[in-house]
Amino acid sequence: MTTVGIVGGGQLARMLALAGHPLGISCVVVEPGLHPPAAAVADVIAAPYGDPGALDELTHQADVVTVELEGVPVDGLRRVERRGVPVRPAPDAVAATQDRLAEKQCFAGLGVSTAPWGSAVTPPAIVKTRHGGYDGRGQMVARSDEELAAAHRHLGDDVVCEAFVTFERELSIVAARGVDGSFAAYPLVENRHDDGILRVTLAPAPRLQASRQAEAEDLARRVMESFGYVGVLTVELFETAGGLLANEMAPRVHNSGHWTIEGAITSQFEQHLRAVTGMPLGSVESRPSAMVNLIGTEPDRERRHRLLALDGVHLHLYGKTPRPGRKLGHVTVVGHDEPDRDARLATVLQALGV
Ligand code: AMP
Repeated sequence: MTTVGIVGGGQLARMLALAGHPLGISCVVVEPGLHPPAAAVADVIAAPYGDPGALDELTHQADVVTVELEGVPVDGLRRVERRGVPVRPAPDAVAATQDRLAEKQCFAGLGVSTAPWGSAVTPPAIVKTRHGGYDGRGQMVARSDEELAAAHRHLGDDVVCEAFVTFERELSIVAARGVDGSFAAYPLVENRHDDGILRVTLAPAPRLQASRQAEAEDLARRVMESFGYVGVLTVELFETAGGLLANEMAPRVHNSGHWTIEGAITSQFEQHLRAVTGMPLGSVESRPSAMVNLIGTEPDRERRHRLLALDGVHLHLYGKTPRPGRKLGHVTVVGHDEPDRDARLATVLQALGV
C-alpha cells in the first residue's frame, strides 16, 4: 500500500483519494476545516496547512507528499522534504505559483508570452495582488489614470500591473510530468467564467487551430522542465489573434480538468497520483466532453433525476455545505463527437436551469 499525503482536504483531495483506491494508494490529508470533502475517502489530520506537528505526522504516514492548493506555507513543505519524504511538485514550483511576480518572471525567463506587465503599463490595465488572489479576487480593472491610482491605493504596493488584453477566449492546458521526465498533456480546453468563477469547460476547445495544442504543450513542458516538476500542472491561457498568452499556473490538478474523470482514459487525478508515486503516466486519449460547475446550490432530487436521465451525463457532489459562490459539485457530459457534446451540454444547462 502506498500512502500519499496531501496538504489540503477539499474536493481536489477527495477526487485524488477516489482515484487512488483502485491503484492501492491511500491518501491522508492535512486540513483545518470542519468536515472537509476529502474526509469521506481519506484520513484527516485536522490542523492548519503549515502546522509543524501535523506535517511531521504526515511525514510519518506518507511515502510522498503533494498539494491540492497553491496557498500552502512553503516552509512546511520544505520541512517535510528535510525529513526525507519527497514533496511533488517541489516546494520551489509551489512557491513560484504563489507570487504573481515570480510567476511572470518565470514565464519571461522561459520565453513564454504573457500580457505586458510592470510599472510602465498604462490603462486599460488590471492590477493584481501578488499573493493570495484567486477566482478573480484581489484584482481591479483600471480604465483611466485615476482608476489606476485608485487601484494602487486600494490594493497596496504588493501588486503586479498588467495590460488589459483583448483575448478571444480563455483556455487551459493540464499536463503531467513523471519522475522519469515523461510528459503527457490533455487537449486544450476552453473555460467560460462568470463573476471570476469557472462555470463551463469544453474539452477539447472548439475550433482549435492545429498549431495551438503544440504551442500550449511546448510552454507547459518548458515550465515543468525548468522546475524538474513532478505531478500535474495547469497553465491558464488567453487565446489572442497573435497566439497564446500565459496568465497563471496552478501546481496541481485543476477544475478545468475535472472532465477527464469520464472523458479521458486516465483522469487528471489518477495521472497526478501515478506521477507523484513514480509510476508510468497513463494515456491522455479522450472523448469530446464538457463540465459544468455546480455553484452555490446543489440540484434538488428532481433536477438530479432529470440530469441523470440524460445520455452521457455524470454527477459529482463534493459533500459541501451550500453557500453563495461555493463550488459544490460538477456535471460532466461526454459526447460521441463535438456536435453531439455541444447538443448534450445544451440539454444539461437546460436541466440545471442555467
Ligand atoms: P486571474 O486571477 O489572473 O486568473 O484573473 C481572473 C480573470 O480576470 C481571468 O480569468 C480573466 O478573465 C481576467 N483577466 C486576468 N488578467 C487579465 C488581463 N491581463 N487582461 C484581460 N483580462 C484579464
